[in-house]
Amino acid sequence: MDNRQIDLHLHTTASDGRLTPTELVLVARRLKLTIISITDHDTTDGIPVARVSAQGNLTIIPGIELSTVDNGDDVHMLGYYIDITNDRLQTALSDFREARDSRARKIVNRLAELHMPIRWEQVQEAANGGAIGRPHIARVMVETGHVGSVGEAFEKYLYTGGPAYIARKRLTPEEGIQLIHSAGGVAILAHPGLVKDYESLIQRLVTTGLDGVEINHPKNSSEVRTRLWELAKQYNLITTGGSDYHNDERGPMASEVPPDGCVEMLEARARQYHTETE
Ligand SMILES: [Zn+2]
Ligand SMILES: [Zn+2]
Repeated sequence: MDNRQIDLHLHTTASDGRLTPTELVLVARRLKLTIISITDHDTTDGIPVARVSAQGNLTIIPGIELSTVDNGDDVHMLGYYIDITNDRLQTALSDFREARDSRARKIVNRLAELHMPIRWEQVQEAANGGAIGRPHIARVMVETGHVGSVGEAFEKYLYTGGPAYIARKRLTPEEGIQLIHSAGGVAILAHPGLVKDYESLIQRLVTTGLDGVEINHPKNSSEVRTRLWELAKQYNLITTGGSDYHNDERGPMASEVPPDGCVEMLEARARQYHTETE
């Protein structure tokens, strides 16, 4: 299989991507990709639709990108070959969505107290039926004229600990790994270049079953990639890659590809987990 025809990190409108699953499949087919994974944040809702649209002409690996938090820092955990019908997984995901929604509503209330009223319906529209998050609220703040840009909304109000920030209960990276494993999936640390002290985190997570690290990602510098190769070798980790495509300024699909043999290794590991859970 040709690596250049594989993209393992893609977002649709089911989370914060700009293309619907059907549109995303069309783009992937136009680019002659053969294997993709849809890895929306905390939801698998885009996958069944994408599979129907792909009509068997494109392999879609069921994936997810779980939001977890480690000592206040965001840590994203990718799960590949998850069983999207797994009860424990889907119950956990619907719990997150509820927590996310009620948190977003609290932020909207807080903004009203700060004399920046926005309408909840507008936030829902911005999220386009997907999971509602701070970026959607920020967009509406721009549309309403309360701030000049999404960046400004975050810098002045929505940042962690900011005047309009509301905390929510989140999974730890260890719990994220467990949840992925319980659904038969392979757990990969996403874009370690965006994680503060990724080295000690990886060291810690290999003891709780981390399967691999995402080496090829737009946000990993070449220094980070070099270091990750060494760590992967040391801990016998699977190495993956993907563009983190959102159809926005973050770059085109397949701009990053997985290393040689990646899909085969993910598949073999997943097969092992599926037999263990049967
Ligand atoms: Zn991420
Ligand atoms: Zn992502």
